[in-house]
Amino acid sequence: MKYREAAYYQPIENEQVRCLLCPHRCVISSGKTGICGVRRNRAGRLLAETYGHCASFAVDPMEKKPLYHFHPGMLIFSVGSRGCNLSCRFCQNHSLAHGQPDTHYLSPRDLVASVLSRAPESIGIAFTYNEPLVSFEFLLEASAEAAQNNLKTVVVSNGYINNEPLQKLLPLVNAFNIDLKGYSQEYYQKFTGGKLEQVKRNIISAKNTGCHVEVTTLLIPGENDDPQEIERMAAWLAAEAGRDVPLHLSRYFPAHKLDSPPTPLKTMEQAYHAALKQLDFVYLGNAPELDKSSTSCPRCNTLIISRSWGKVTIENLNEDSCAVCGKELSIVS
Ligand code: SF4
Repeated sequence: MKYREAAYYQPIENEQVRCLLCPHRCVISSGKTGICGVRRNRAGRLLAETYGHCASFAVDPMEKKPLYHFHPGMLIFSVGSRGCNLSCRFCQNHSLAHGQPDTHYLSPRDLVASVLSRAPESIGIAFTYNEPLVSFEFLLEASAEAAQNNLKTVVVSNGYINNEPLQKLLPLVNAFNIDLKGYSQEYYQKFTGGKLEQVKRNIISAKNTGCHVEVTTLLIPGENDDPQEIERMAAWLAAEAGRDVPLHLSRYFPAHKLDSPPTPLKTMEQAYHAALKQLDFVYLGNAPELDKSSTSCPRCNTLIISRSWGKVTIENLNEDSCAVCGKELSIVS
């Protein structure tokens, strides 16, 4: 297996290093990894242990990322590795995020070549499943290689990274789906081990650099599902990133360390209506019964894109505008 020296770290005494990739700023002794489990100190050098180590592949609909306003209905080659720098008790992908899955080495060039030859219908590469940012060096180089081959780069992420590496990555990323896991620091600390403010800053940075951004919140019953808090979160998004940022409210099912029952459908509906007071596009994920995954024009209410049980149909989209009233919509197609 190949390893790459990590970017963004500094040596400190006794062969210890401080990793500067994410806000944890782990101090790591020789032989150990940081919180993410994949950046390891070897005798005073920090190695990116998962460089090129791919654990999971699939050709997915863009909607599955979820990205509803970025090339709707298209397919994207999706790849994941292992490791994550948050420790969400409800992690829906913990076997990759916190396990030791088998991996297969691909250089950035190999990865792009394999997308072009094996999945020519894909418009690009989505780095997803585990947390892509902890494999920062591979993500950066594979995204550059993808761009050179006219492939889009999508990153599905918890958004937990320091500003300097984020700024380096942003010009290479076409679309982000960033988790905003809740809207209080208490919730972030209790359920993820991270800091809310850094994630908020990074959502704004991504948006300000012209990246297409969608946001996802997994609703945990009794923890982050208060409609007033959802409305405050949506109001913040509208004020800082624009009313047209799509927000995906996703229904929780028991996973990893959390075994409380799934989010009630009624809670999902209440959250939907609370967010919709502030934002133009709110979608419910993992709740097909509620049928809140289609896109309608916020001005004339015309159905723009219908999504039903995995089927996506473009109904009334004229480039990036409503075909009926002409309102510009935040849809990249
Ligand atoms: S990327 Fe990993 S090692 Fe680096 S600071 Fe974050 S959790 Fe720690």
